[in-house]
Amino acid sequence: MKLFLRLLFRNRLAGFGAVVLGAIVVLAVLTPVLPLHAPNETNTANRFLRPFAEGHLLGTDHLGRDLLSRLMWGTRLSLAVGFAAALVAGLAGAAIGVIAGYFGGRTDNVTMRGVDMLMAFPYILLALAIVAVLGPGLLNALIAVAVVNIPFFARNIRGITVGIAHREFIDAARLAGMGHTRILLTEVVPNVVPVVVIAMSTTIGWMILETAGLSFLGLGSQPPQADLGSMLGEARSALITAPHTSIVPGVMILLIVMSVNLLGDGIRDALDPRLRSGALARPMAATRVERKTVPAPEGEGLLRIDGLETQFHIGARVYKAVNKVSLDLKPGECLGLIGESGSGKSVTALSVMGLVASPPGVITGGAVRLNGQDLIGAPYEVLRALRGRKVAYIFQDPLSTLHPLYRIGDQLIEAIRVHEPVSRAQAHERAIKLLEDVRIPNARARARAFPHELSGGMRQRVGIAMAMANDPDIIIADEPTTALDVTVQAQILALLDDLRRSRGLAILFITHDFGVVGQLCDRVAVMYGGRIVETGPTAEVLEAPAHPYTRRLIACVPELGGGRRVLAAIPGLPPAVDDLPQGCAFAPRCDKAQDACRKGEIALTGAARQVRCLYPEVAP
Ligand code: ADP
Ligand code: MG
Repeated sequence: MKLFLRLLFRNRLAGFGAVVLGAIVVLAVLTPVLPLHAPNETNTANRFLRPFAEGHLLGTDHLGRDLLSRLMWGTRLSLAVGFAAALVAGLAGAAIGVIAGYFGGRTDNVTMRGVDMLMAFPYILLALAIVAVLGPGLLNALIAVAVVNIPFFARNIRGITVGIAHREFIDAARLAGMGHTRILLTEVVPNVVPVVVIAMSTTIGWMILETAGLSFLGLGSQPPQADLGSMLGEARSALITAPHTSIVPGVMILLIVMSVNLLGDGIRDALDPRLRSGALARPMAATRVERKTVPAPEGEGLLRIDGLETQFHIGARVYKAVNKVSLDLKPGECLGLIGESGSGKSVTALSVMGLVASPPGVITGGAVRLNGQDLIGAPYEVLRALRGRKVAYIFQDPLSTLHPLYRIGDQLIEAIRVHEPVSRAQAHERAIKLLEDVRIPNARARARAFPHELSGGMRQRVGIAMAMANDPDIIIADEPTTALDVTVQAQILALLDDLRRSRGLAILFITHDFGVVGQLCDRVAVMYGGRIVETGPTAEVLEAPAHPYTRRLIACVPELGGGRRVLAAIPGLPPAVDDLPQGCAFAPRCDKAQDACRKGEIALTGAARQVRCLYPEVAP
């Protein structure tokens, strides 16, 4: 709740709307106890008094009734009717939507076609028709406004529910033996409530206007009862001679609707979980760079990362996800980057091409040089020309990186034509060739498949084909086999290895599995808490790990035919990178840690084999 209010008031306009609406609501609630004239007390001697007249702050109307009093009572009524209509429409619409979306099939068809029939009429005409049938009156106007708004809620909520009804947690609830009612109430409804609230808060303004419209036409509140619409309606004939009688309710309607809409937008922004997590915050085209010094290159190499620092600045907290990381990759080489989840591997990889989302990501130091050219802070156009062309990425879950609505062939063609001005037919042939290269059987037919029609292994092959589309020099593979089963994993690794040898590709291979590194990589860098703790040729590191963390990681890999042994999980959790301990980040979990490990900065020492440890297992 506190978070909600903070998010809401961060939006100035929403805060303004909340204050204005709050004031209006408080006044409306207090109206009966305020020292006002009776709203319906006529006094024809005092017709059309101007504002600020004696005893009538806002003047009087055509029957000499006090405008201030009528305004307050009218506001009270209009607000009550508007909110009630929104509540009725929201609840009824949501109920219809949830039921239709959850049960689907015939239930869905019947209810939704009914809703469509309501939607087929222009809604003001429909409201008029309903009031015509029920007879004029404020309650009937409320019903009419609520009914015409039901389809909007029903459609909206049905869509959300359909998406939820097939999710795994609903299946799990079914498997746990819950009945439909229970699932609807405990699993589905909590997920749609924010959407209902959002939809309501953004439509209340409309409903107040619609009710006022009906009253204006004489179909809502009946004389002498005042609501804002009927006040406007009665004042219409005196618009020229006594404009204040129209302006007063008009301004109030404007204030209410404007503040409701501003507040509604604010509520939507604060409640929408996607907006809250920053997903719709529109990350910048390339990661923000705030770098004070540029480190000198430490040597040659196709790709050199020198002292890279990438942080996340969230509020007052600074998450040091990547902390002075240096790596280098030679042509045709495969470098493994290994570490537990959260150690900063992905952020390192994404920093290379400026793909870390900003906000909150910031690159605060270091250099990334591709063939000597520094990419950190390079103009977006330069990065864009290199992305996919020189450096391509493969991600863990190809189902979420492939577009679900395009055939895989078309997606490959698009990837090719982004960087090369070839004809569609040529690109098509290239795409088929790529699919064959990644050993997809019957490539020509498979090019017409949609991503969901392929198995996980096939999809990952498409992901690799996509990365190969522009014949890059470097592929950065971020846990490409983690989502696959072991046999498919072996095939994908073999494929990557083949491609590397036949095309001289350099690969930065990210994984948390030493078994995978052992199969594929020439060298390995071990990462922990955002820093490199050990590097060296794979065989040597596997043979004799120097850092206790590396040793423990290797001990986590089960060995086939290795006899029975207890797999040694590493106790404790990786450190939170916004609050790193002094000294070695691994010390709290290390069985060899001494007092010296807990102070100061521990350097990475050695040349071909490097280790960041005061008491390494073997001398580097
Ligand atoms: P992994 O090694 O598993 O790939 P990551 O590189 O994804 O780890 O993450 C490194 C650290 O950065 C983690 O502690 C993570 O919580 C943090 N982090 C990653 N992305 C974000 C983000 N968008 N906002 C805040 N923190 C993030
Ligand atoms: Mg990762």
